[in-house]
Amino acid sequence: MILIMMNGPARLSALLISLAFTLPSFAQKHKVAEHAKEPAHTSEPIILHVDLTDAPRHILHAHEQIPVTAGPLELEYPQWIPGDHRPTGPIDNLAGLFIRANGKDIPWRRDEVDMYGVHLTVPEGVTSLDVSYDFLAVPGGTGSDEDDATSANMAVLEWNSVVLYPAHIPVADIPITASITVPEGWKSGTALTPTQQSGNETSFQTVPVYTLVDSPFITGRYFREIPLAPEITPKHYLDVAGEAPEDVEIKPAVLDSFSRLVREASALYQSHHYETYHFVLSLSDTVRGEGLEHHQSSDNGLPEHGLSDESLAMVDADLLPHEFTHSWNGKYRRPIGLATPDYATPMRGDLLWVYEGMTQYWGDVLATRSGLWTPEQFKEALALTAANLDQKPGRTWRNLEDTAIAAQILRGNTLNYSNWRRSQDYYPEGELLWLDADTTIRQLTHGQKSLNDFCVKFLALGGNTPPKVVPYTFDDIVNDLNSVVAYDWHGFLTDRITSHADHAPLGGVEHGGYKLVYQDQPTKFEKAELGRRGGVDAFYSVGLRVHKDGTIGDVKMFSDAYKAGFAPQWKIVAVNSIGYSDDGLKDALKRAKGMSEPMEFIVSNDNHFRTLKIDYHGGEQYPHLERENSAPDLLDDIVKPLTPAAATKQ
Ligand SMILES: [Zn+2]
Repeated sequence: MILIMMNGPARLSALLISLAFTLPSFAQKHKVAEHAKEPAHTSEPIILHVDLTDAPRHILHAHEQIPVTAGPLELEYPQWIPGDHRPTGPIDNLAGLFIRANGKDIPWRRDEVDMYGVHLTVPEGVTSLDVSYDFLAVPGGTGSDEDDATSANMAVLEWNSVVLYPAHIPVADIPITASITVPEGWKSGTALTPTQQSGNETSFQTVPVYTLVDSPFITGRYFREIPLAPEITPKHYLDVAGEAPEDVEIKPAVLDSFSRLVREASALYQSHHYETYHFVLSLSDTVRGEGLEHHQSSDNGLPEHGLSDESLAMVDADLLPHEFTHSWNGKYRRPIGLATPDYATPMRGDLLWVYEGMTQYWGDVLATRSGLWTPEQFKEALALTAANLDQKPGRTWRNLEDTAIAAQILRGNTLNYSNWRRSQDYYPEGELLWLDADTTIRQLTHGQKSLNDFCVKFLALGGNTPPKVVPYTFDDIVNDLNSVVAYDWHGFLTDRITSHADHAPLGGVEHGGYKLVYQDQPTKFEKAELGRRGGVDAFYSVGLRVHKDGTIGDVKMFSDAYKAGFAPQWKIVAVNSIGYSDDGLKDALKRAKGMSEPMEFIVSNDNHFRTLKIDYHGGEQYPHLERENSAPDLLDDIVKPLTPAAATKQ
């Protein structure tokens, strides 16, 4: 998954066999083994049909035939969604559940502790259950991404929203045969292998529930499937749906960069752990804009003009490279605590600074190597990341590792006091950590080796493979780094994940030949970022982030604004006696420079008005990276393409 930053960039049968031999090793370590003898399930596939014809009405209809044997049975709905790192399966939006056998209703009762489980007794003589239910694709209580994945013109289906299966069995061991009906005339894409097409209905090869949930399906009125980097095997496709016909007419230069992304990732990771790869992409202002990684595909959401509007395209250019990288880092190689046998077992996120942090790093580097960003844009994005973390007092109490362990409670994505609470900083601070590791390897080996070499060791392990999970521990990371160049990597990583220092680990920026500075104009990147959401970033001057209507978002702890008495959620009504506007606040900051009078604000706390003064005269402050000419420019070296330019012209 990708982090939507509010204050900076993000900053088959063969399969069945391969997964079956991959996952049981952890199944044995969990309670799964104890429950595996539960009697009511057989090894025949579940038959699932999903009807998307009412997707524009935000309701998806599902019907399952679940093979069973007589006796007690618990059916489960996915709770811990891979890539979401938290228990957000949208159970609140499952409605109209009826379980029948031989035409008769079978009573069920929800587990009183596990909201995702329902218990029933399969009568003697019954070998198959008819289970029907609807998924309401509307905002619900879990904050799940599946809630707003449909519009008048498209639907993105993450199958975890429409599947029930017998509990306490590893999901890699449960076969399922799915089919789907789409609205008349809509076209579709997915990494699943179709076996039959009849009208608007498509049937797919039998796969484990694990693979089904791992293979999102996109369908739309305006849809195209576009091959990328056709000379590379396995094959890669862009499956794109838009809200209007012109949305899916992607500019050749953008498609060329996506093809370069495939080539650059193949050159960096020197392996593939999939049989085909689909970039599922929705271009919509209605369908949620997020990213979710899978082995053989990724579910990417951008605004309707997210590829055609240059400013929007720049801000989100890391999305596809990030989610693609996850096929290696996150899906194939996975922290042991996230490699769970089913969707009921809680995940442990302590190594998310590898899973997400290194993906954030490679996502940004690959965006640049593939031409989606210029090297300048890479540095401008990095400046925002570095500044945001460098001025985050929350580090003094919550270290990087705790942001990872606490991932499931830090996805709220609110600005309010986020500098003190911290947010999912294992993404951006993880990026700084891996940049630091990359530049350290380059320095230790005098440019002979880099984090690219670590990638080959860590991510290409076993060469090309079908989708499978190879778990790792902290010590595995240390050992693989040591195999690239001997160093105290244990100490290096431990220091950075447990540090309570006032400032961010900026060693990578500095070894890269740059320093973090502040200037009175934002970079083009920050301007685009601010332009999209509106408001003012006065965080690095007075310590305020303000939404476009004057409502205060974040107040930096111990800053001038904090000391003056400001608080999140209050509204700035006037600045220096003039009604609030974004430009008015920026002008006031500019004018305060060189003047002796404090700035005066009228603020409203729920209609209780106060006047507050900030005695600040430093002008506007925005982060930039400034070149240190005495040091080699490693950042430029890092973002140089690995593949020859000629190969990118196809
Ligand atoms: Zn991610």
